[in-house]
Amino acid sequence: MATIIDGKALAAKVKEEVAQKAAALTAKPALAVIIVGDNPASRVYVNGKKKDCGECGFYSEEYALPAETTQKQLLDLIDELNRREDMDGILVQLPLPDHFDEREVLRAIRPDKDVDCFHPYNVGKLMIGEAGFVPCTPYGVVRMLKEYNIDIRGKHCVVVGRSNIVGKPQAILMLREDATVTICHSRTPDLAAECRRADILIAAVGRVGLITADMVKEGAVVIDVAMNRNEQGKLCGDVCYDEVAKKAAYITPVPGGVGPMTRAMLMENTLYAAMEHGK
Ligand code: NAP
Repeated sequence: MATIIDGKALAAKVKEEVAQKAAALTAKPALAVIIVGDNPASRVYVNGKKKDCGECGFYSEEYALPAETTQKQLLDLIDELNRREDMDGILVQLPLPDHFDEREVLRAIRPDKDVDCFHPYNVGKLMIGEAGFVPCTPYGVVRMLKEYNIDIRGKHCVVVGRSNIVGKPQAILMLREDATVTICHSRTPDLAAECRRADILIAAVGRVGLITADMVKEGAVVIDVAMNRNEQGKLCGDVCYDEVAKKAAYITPVPGGVGPMTRAMLMENTLYAAMEHGK
């Protein structure tokens, strides 16, 4: 039976460490969170981020804008926050309502305040291995593996999913840790065969029940990034947890796995920004 990777406990530990480091700074790290419209999931995420900021001793400001906000109004707000010397991080909760050009919005955030690491400048730095922000979800996954002393170097890692937010940066990070990396996606002809080659399998698709036990090598490490709702409305990942847990050496639960770590890594990035800003 697999060891369960306890993302919740680990996230609490990371946040405690962040809080200790933040307390030693000359001023509190400060994060501005912008939410547009009334997407209930986004509201839950934003509330979580505010709570995390409180726990870490950060200063935070929330900007809740109506769905009718224009692109120009949002860009003006970002511009104002970019100029504020006291503000270390700016986060725009995604997805934005359809009439927004998300790419333009993300590019408007000053790279040194881009705590989500979505700006092309920061993505480029990540790609060439320069120090800087690391996207929260993939960063959280690597941190989990390290905290559980799971070897990454020389291991075969299969990442299922190639989004800019999770799959691609996850693959880059695993490469940076000296894994041999395969990236799978919706056009991969034999997903099961690819997955079976994985020492470390990272599922980031968004399909309930996609990863079954027959797709997992005995003793593999299985990380489930996805956050889906099953037919009963229950939160679940891509991995058929019960059957895969019998075969894997390590597994992350959903909820309580990658999700809390993502939140904790946002705090790490905000702390990093504050330190870079000389606080
Ligand atoms: P996304 O942008 O929709 O990307 C999904 C990826 O999965 C795409 O690359 C897609 O391939 C691939 N895919 C779709 N069907 C597939 C199939 N049958 N076989 C293989 N690959 C397939 O999603 P995302 O933003 O990366 O998020 C993925 C999941 O992670 C979602 O459940 C999301 O809720 C969750 N998530 C969790 C956290 C967290 O903190 N835990 C953070 C972010 C996201 P193509 O590129 O070919 O279309």
